[in-house]
Amino acid sequence: MEYRRLGKSGLQVSALSFGSWLTFGNQISDNVADELMGVAYDAGVNFFDNAEGYAEGKSEIVMGNIIKSQKWERDTFVVSSKVFFGAERKGPNQMGLSRKHIIEACHAALKRLQVDYLDLYFCHRPDKNTPIEETVFAMNTLLQQGKILYWGTSEWSAVEIMEAIAVAKQYNLIGPTMEQPQYNLFERNKLENEYLHLFNNHGLGTTIWSPLASGILSGKYTNGGVEGTRLALEGLEWLKDRTLAADRMEKATALQELANSLDVPLAKLSIAWCLKNPNVSTVILGASKVPQLQENLKVLDVVPLLTEEVIAKIEAIVQTKPIV
Ligand code: NDP
Repeated sequence: MEYRRLGKSGLQVSALSFGSWLTFGNQISDNVADELMGVAYDAGVNFFDNAEGYAEGKSEIVMGNIIKSQKWERDTFVVSSKVFFGAERKGPNQMGLSRKHIIEACHAALKRLQVDYLDLYFCHRPDKNTPIEETVFAMNTLLQQGKILYWGTSEWSAVEIMEAIAVAKQYNLIGPTMEQPQYNLFERNKLENEYLHLFNNHGLGTTIWSPLASGILSGKYTNGGVEGTRLALEGLEWLKDRTLAADRMEKATALQELANSLDVPLAKLSIAWCLKNPNVSTVILGASKVPQLQENLKVLDVVPLLTEEVIAKIEAIVQTKPIV
């Protein structure tokens, strides 16, 4: 496994990490979740990603039970939670980035994950109804209390992140260390354009999500249907429509042909492509089945296959390179 610094921080995260969205407490059994975490940890994965909103808190309960039963030393792994969407989603103060919800959500996540502190704590989305000062102060309070070690954002605009950095500077607080954006062959603008100033001048780290764009970049939907996949889950029709959009299907088919010509699974090629970007601190993998994760964890071998010539072929297919 390769380890990368999380931006300019001193924390080292495995280049491949593992997340639980849609799977833990929902799509897969707790036994499979346990097996997946074990496979990841044994391969050198040291970062496990979670959020209060995943399976309404159940995802954190499942992960907490696994961490406890595996008896891993606390200094051998990094675990995250995210605040914004709420686990309960009932009352007005059970979501968002107010001081009240941030503090209460952190306490609830610590309990569900059965840990004394969260290594990484993300603001899962920006909250237009809370002053940014209130959010930055609340995160700083949790840092001072030792309940979180680093805080960051997820899917914030560069302007919103800059505002948080400016507020932290103004009041001598600790600002955001990392952002968690979507990054894959179809979604590139934030990483390759919008955030460049934040990387170059503020040392922002990134923990990127959906490297396979929910599975289509494994090529499996070019030959097969959605049975047994996340796209067959009830309530995820929006994700199915987005994932299987005609232009994506067309590009995935062409990418699959390219992967075949290189004799490598498309999933590995797609994940390796994410790792090539030096502004990616860690690629968060998702998996619902053990063989998927075993395949994805071997992706470091594939990075050298991404020569300039191969990259050019990929660009010609996807045509998603932002104009900088
Ligand atoms: P991917 O886009 O990589 O999708 C993972 C899914 O693709 C798997 O669950 C599986 O789904 C399928 N898959 C994985 N590997 C293979 C393979 N080798 N062959 C065929 N199919 C495969 O990542 P996720 O969308 O799961 O995101 C990863 C993590 O990022 C999440 O767990 C979460 O921690 C984080 N995240 C953060 C968000 C945020 O807003 N901050 C939003 C979304 C995710 P299937 O069951 O369908 O086969």
